Amino acid sequence: MEIPARAKKKSSTREGQFRYALDMCAKTGDLAGALALYESAVAENLRLSAYHFNSLLHIISTSIGTFDEPSKKSSIDTSFAIFDRMAADGATPTEATITSMARIAAQRPDEGANLAFDLVKTMGERYGASPRLRTYSPVLSAFCRRLEADKAYAVECHMVSMGVVPEEPEIAALLEVSAKVGREDKVYGYLHKLRGSVGCVADSTAEILEGWFRSERAMEVERSNWDAGTVKDAILMNGGGWHGLGWLGEGVWDIRHATVNSEGDCSGCGQRLACVDIDRMETEKFAVSVATLALGRESKSNFRTFQEWLEKHSEYEAIIDGANVGLYQQNFADGGFSLSQLDAVVQELFERSQGRWPLIVLHKKRALALMENPSNRQILEKWRAEGALYTTPTGSNDDWYWLYAAVKLKCLLVTNDEMRDHIFELLGRSFFPKWKERHQVRYTFNKGDLMLMMPPPYSSVIQESDTGSWHVPLDEKCDNEKLRNWLCITRPASLASSKGVCLAAGHSTQTSVEPRQMTSPAEDVNGEQKLPSSFQPCNDRAVCVTGKRKDRP
Ligand SMILES: [Zn+2]
Repeated sequence: MEIPARAKKKSSTREGQFRYALDMCAKTGDLAGALALYESAVAENLRLSAYHFNSLLHIISTSIGTFDEPSKKSSIDTSFAIFDRMAADGATPTEATITSMARIAAQRPDEGANLAFDLVKTMGERYGASPRLRTYSPVLSAFCRRLEADKAYAVECHMVSMGVVPEEPEIAALLEVSAKVGREDKVYGYLHKLRGSVGCVADSTAEILEGWFRSERAMEVERSNWDAGTVKDAILMNGGGWHGLGWLGEGVWDIRHATVNSEGDCSGCGQRLACVDIDRMETEKFAVSVATLALGRESKSNFRTFQEWLEKHSEYEAIIDGANVGLYQQNFADGGFSLSQLDAVVQELFERSQGRWPLIVLHKKRALALMENPSNRQILEKWRAEGALYTTPTGSNDDWYWLYAAVKLKCLLVTNDEMRDHIFELLGRSFFPKWKERHQVRYTFNKGDLMLMMPPPYSSVIQESDTGSWHVPLDEKCDNEKLRNWLCITRPASLASSKGVCLAAGHSTQTSVEPRQMTSPAEDVNGEQKLPSSFQPCNDRAVCVTGKRKDRP
């Protein structure tokens, strides 16, 4: 008689049955069951694989935190016995093994954190395994819990040396331990690391920050004299929103929960928040990488000619992706191109910047076709005479030209192109999105009326002002900037005193790197300011119409 498949499976190897039973224990978090299974496997002299050992250690590591002291101690001993057995059986520990062991070891009250750190430090050399962020977390929190700040810093150094980047929970833990042991230099450093790595902070992080600013040590850190010019220069070089020169001001810190209006003014202190750009060096590097990519794809001599031309014509405040505007909501099948739409954008920018012409980048072939119509010809010739038009040569991809011009001249770029094409992918995801947020101007035509959507007037990221105050955006999940809560952290004594500089009472303004631009945000018909475009519902039609256009021969 045939043995049914199911029964066959059931009567498969003892190892198979063991694995099945262990998986069930893992699913239900049945530690006692898992340990009993292990005992029986040892008694039967079953050969266990790395999978079995890892599964056992994982079950222990996830439940050990809830044990009372005696059970905790015995579980730790059992885990180390299992770990030794694993080595004896020739099963190589993996990253998962060490992560579980680090979690377990860190529970030991005395030397646990050191033991856990040793496991992590030696895992590469011993087992060829690489730690992940989760491998470090138990070690780091154990040192932070024990207020062993220097050891916590050593863990961070090791992480960085292994290419593991700390995230908000790790940075917050490091900041907290630094605050508790009164290391104000470290608190300052981690506050900047936090600024660089997250936008809005979690509630738990905000509590840690409040704890620091309310502490006595925070009150004592002071600098009443500083060079305003140096601070402002640093802010400019950094792209706005921070200087990184250390704590400024003196006395107690005033911590409020505030909101920020659409212009960027804080309801707590009246300061205007900055729109944070990528820093100067990154911008330069970015321009070089755009040029390098362009030169690799475009005719070298054509693009070089453009670069040289741009060197001599560097006064523009805005660049217009001419094809994107002209083809907006036009019928592609007819090859429709609306020069009047493009002209409306040009005029609007011209007026906003008190008579400075933007630069329109347009394909030569397109310009020639438009010239056939006398009224178009007049407009184009006017632009050309004013130096407002650059026609890209036959065979070129004008995307490279307008993008390069906007990056190089650090100015605004008018286009609805989301810049998600493969060519933009080459520019990387680290700071290109940030650059776009700061420089891209989107537009719509509603029944023929143009509306420009300028970049947001301020950035929802941690900000440090030139007077030493701090603003920290909260509510990670809030998607309406008007409603977002901020921590507004200032030093009233410092603001009121005459010792410091830039201390003009009232409406102090954050030094911000303005791209040379007309900053007035677009207004709607009621004269109300629009929310920054990035917070507005996406205009699907605009995206789908303009996203696909290709204006190249
Ligand atoms: Zn404020």
